[in-house]
Amino acid sequence: MQHGPLNEASIPISCLIETLPCAVSVLDRDLCYLAVNARWENDNRVARADVLGRSYFEVFPKSPRRLFDRVLQGATNKSEGVRLLRLDGSIRLADVSIVPWFDEAGSVAGVMSSSVELSEPEDSPFADRAQERLRSAVELAEIFVWEIDQTKRSTWATGAEDTFFDGSFTLDQFQSDPWGTIHADDRERVFTLAREQLRSNGRYIAEYRLNRPDKVVWVRGGCVAIPNDDGGRPRLIGVLQDVTERKMAELAADRANEAKSNFLATMSHEIRTPLNGVLGMVQAMCADLLPEVQRDRLELIRQSGESLLAILNDILDFSKIEAGKIELEDIEFDFGAVVLGVHATFDALAKRKGLSFAQDIDEARGVYRGDPTRVRQILSNLVSNALKFTETGEITVVAAHAGEGLELRITDTGIGIPADKLDSLFSSFTQVDGSTTRRFGGTGLGLAICWRLAGLMGGAIKVESTLGQGSTFTVTLPLIRIGDGETDRPTSGDEPTQHQSLNLSVLAAEDNRVNQIVLKTLLNQIGVDPVLVENGAMAVEAWEHGHWDAILMDVQMPVMDGLAATAAIREREAATGRRRTPIIALTANAMSHQVSEYLSSGMDGHVAKPIEARRLFEALEAALEMNSHAEEAQTALRA
Ligand code: ADP
Repeated sequence: MQHGPLNEASIPISCLIETLPCAVSVLDRDLCYLAVNARWENDNRVARADVLGRSYFEVFPKSPRRLFDRVLQGATNKSEGVRLLRLDGSIRLADVSIVPWFDEAGSVAGVMSSSVELSEPEDSPFADRAQERLRSAVELAEIFVWEIDQTKRSTWATGAEDTFFDGSFTLDQFQSDPWGTIHADDRERVFTLAREQLRSNGRYIAEYRLNRPDKVVWVRGGCVAIPNDDGGRPRLIGVLQDVTERKMAELAADRANEAKSNFLATMSHEIRTPLNGVLGMVQAMCADLLPEVQRDRLELIRQSGESLLAILNDILDFSKIEAGKIELEDIEFDFGAVVLGVHATFDALAKRKGLSFAQDIDEARGVYRGDPTRVRQILSNLVSNALKFTETGEITVVAAHAGEGLELRITDTGIGIPADKLDSLFSSFTQVDGSTTRRFGGTGLGLAICWRLAGLMGGAIKVESTLGQGSTFTVTLPLIRIGDGETDRPTSGDEPTQHQSLNLSVLAAEDNRVNQIVLKTLLNQIGVDPVLVENGAMAVEAWEHGHWDAILMDVQMPVMDGLAATAAIREREAATGRRRTPIIALTANAMSHQVSEYLSSGMDGHVAKPIEARRLFEALEAALEMNSHAEEAQTALRA
């Protein structure tokens, strides 16, 4: 029988081919695909668009060429029960016939092939082999493999059942309630994840504990959904893998890390208290009349104390960041004022080293939303490094309002950083010169903290550097600019003011003895002799029996804390009509949300620890003013 070439006149033939219940393909003399039918696509798991026009051997490179050569010479080939390799590596069993087809002149124009797919017989060695492969893989991987056919309501499973389920478990139970095998604390999480992932990707994988009363078993488990041919609910094929050992090691490492962070936090807090004593007393002594030599020595103590405090603050910050306990503020702040403040802090040092220290921030001036303390911290750190590692030349700070936020560039003409050290620069405790004879001090924490803070704000830091020529650190922070800045002055406004003697009766609640002495000494300098009590309950008691112009209240105290004591005093004032006594919080918690919490719970002011004498005196002056306003108001009421 001879066929013409496939052209428009032969359309009925291509329609016929399309409807045939076996896979059909038509190839030309060069064995390039001219046509395939839908069944061919289905059996081979290949779309026709991917093969038309391509050569057969390009698509199926492993096929025997000789067979096709014979057909091209006019022979016909029929093979029953051959195993054909699909492109995806799977095997299909089929009866195949390949015949030549002829052009009008009677020459072979190509080949046509049809195949009828057979199902693998139960006792086929290939079926066995597939089983064997699965069994060996499951055994070696020590996994449990399951399948649930939701339409037929059947379950199949194989593998290390004992590892995953206790004896009471049965496959029926698994089928009726697979989620029931998950530990109650993890069930909801895994269920939600599985539902979402199955819907979007047709698969999920999660780590969770199994619901076993006898021991903790962590598994990595999941499944794929296989669409059901007749449109019913998909079949689910899943695995469970025991990951208890790794998970336990991870949890132990997390706990150790947390313990380290807590230890660091506690240690730095504990070291801070005596250091407050040192710095407080130095401040008090600076106000005394001293010979020049002693004043110089005192200055050295002050500088050392402040360096120590800076290191402690770094350690505290770093451990807080590591433990995920750092909270960023989201308030309005004047960026220009922050930069000017940092400039004012470091200008003197730059002058001492003979370095020029310039800034150009005009483009970036304005009010932004964000955490000013942390922005200042990043900038201070980078400027302080630039000054530390530069002997001649200049440091510049350039800021621009670029795209979605702020871009800050700190450039120096210092020693530079070797290219191979740039990558590890932002890791904790990393220093370019790690030797014991290194020239510069420092903990190697500053950049790690800056990096993480910038990351927490959604920004980043990068560095470019040339050895011997200098470095540029670029910080990008996605902070929103909400208006023009109002001030050209630094935020700290650190001009010294003269404080007069105050004639005040002050009650101070402070549980730490060193802090008590510091407080007393500083207050004595302005003629105030405070009455000291050790906790909030004693403060309430003393308030009840005396007249006070102001109360200085530590926040964390034994027996009754500062907030509870304030609440008790405010309640008694309201009940008895007694005049409001100003209460000033004295605490190391100085974030603005903490301060506003204190103010909204009845306190009138806030002074941060370590106490700066000037701020303490200003807070007391403000209290005095508050009292005189209250008195005026009362006189006016009486009149
Ligand atoms: P450190 O407290 O040691 O200065 P940092 O994390 O701030 O800690 O810096 C880590 C190291 O990075 C420094 O010890 C120094 O080797 C290098 N480094 C940082 N900034 C500069 C800079 N501007 N120029 C040269 N080297 C720098």
